Amino acid sequence: MAGSEEESRIIREMESLNESKRKIDDEIRVLQARLLQIRQNNHSSKTYGNNLPAHHIYRYSRHLLLPSFGVEGQANLLNSSVLVVGAGGLGSPALLYLAACGLGRLGIVDHDVVELNNLHRQIIHSEAYIGRPKVESAAAACRSINSTTQIVEYKEALRATNALEIMSKYDVILDATDNAPSRYMISDCCVVLGKPLVSGAAVGLEGQLTVYNYNGGPCYRCLFPTPPPTTACQRCSDSGVLGVVPGIIGCLQALEAVKISAKVGDPLSGRMLLLDAMSARIRIVKIRGRSPQCEACGDTSPLTRQQFQKFDYESFTQSPLSTTPLKLKLLPGDARISSTEFNKKIKDAEPYVLVDVRPSHHYKIVSLPRSLNIPLSSLEDRLPEISSALKKEQECRGLESGRGTALYVVCRRGNDSQRAVEYLHKMGFSTAKDIIGGLESWTFDIDPNFPTY
Ligand SMILES: [Zn+2]
Repeated sequence: MAGSEEESRIIREMESLNESKRKIDDEIRVLQARLLQIRQNNHSSKTYGNNLPAHHIYRYSRHLLLPSFGVEGQANLLNSSVLVVGAGGLGSPALLYLAACGLGRLGIVDHDVVELNNLHRQIIHSEAYIGRPKVESAAAACRSINSTTQIVEYKEALRATNALEIMSKYDVILDATDNAPSRYMISDCCVVLGKPLVSGAAVGLEGQLTVYNYNGGPCYRCLFPTPPPTTACQRCSDSGVLGVVPGIIGCLQALEAVKISAKVGDPLSGRMLLLDAMSARIRIVKIRGRSPQCEACGDTSPLTRQQFQKFDYESFTQSPLSTTPLKLKLLPGDARISSTEFNKKIKDAEPYVLVDVRPSHHYKIVSLPRSLNIPLSSLEDRLPEISSALKKEQECRGLESGRGTALYVVCRRGNDSQRAVEYLHKMGFSTAKDIIGGLESWTFDIDPNFPTY
């Protein structure tokens, strides 16, 4: 008991200190913005090679000492601006390096808040910012690294309605989002505005990187004129990702953005870098050039501003812009049961068999007691196991055959369980019911200590 009291006291104290820290961060932000304004207005401040202010010489000396970069590269950075769309796994490392490198202006767009299960990969955020907008957290981190770069916050989702206005203010765009509609929208907007796009992606243990719409190179639509089928579009909220993989790709995105802004080297246009983390392999493949038939950048009828603003990216890609999980409704009400009702049946000691249809690596994370793991993908082959489980339950309870033992199906969020129940009904398991909202509803309604993932 004493331990848990101390735990609560420590948590309260940390929350109060974090609150003070946030207030101090806000005050620093105001002062930094003012300082930047004074420095920018102060034309009398002496400049050196290529108009670099004196305080930049020492700060960026290791850049200046690079013969292939030098004062020209650094001065180009100072006169450039980069917009990072998404302050998540890719955006986090990219923003840290972009804040450090000496750009004139750095914009951050994101509409999400920081969550505990982001922190293993979104390294710009810290525990103190959980529940607060990612943009605020990322901007505070960037400002604490570099008070000489102007940091601009856009606490909103990028949509076809606001993208032109926001993106037109920047020289280079960095796509650090994780969904198909955003990829098409950002690429199209870059085509309309004539901006280079540094595009990165990371799922599982693989990553890829390329630069679109640069110096006559292809755009995203040149390569992918039609969107991939919805099921093929994995997102890291639903599939796993090893934290350092987006970290590597995000760093490479920052590198390409720095090269383009500083006007040095050969940006990765017309080529794609593929990272396979498990086998430690990086390949660079040549990709198709700009397509004259492309609906965005093609020769015949390039996309106009008006067409762009009216284009429905969500219906084009059949997937939503936001990361809200899918909520299917396949079954009639009497084929479903809430977690509260299910819990009551357990308490009333009613006979039942519970089938958990998640993949086995999910089942190993956490599961309900007395559940039988039969992944949806192997349901067809393993129906006899369900029959024998029902029979066994009946025998254990000493029930006469024919008296119904209930069959419940659960998954993570209540989508696959409905698919499974649909199938089970077809195969003669007419009493099968799905637990609405899956294990997430168990945590929400029954046991807050039951871990979610
Ligand atoms: Zn194109």
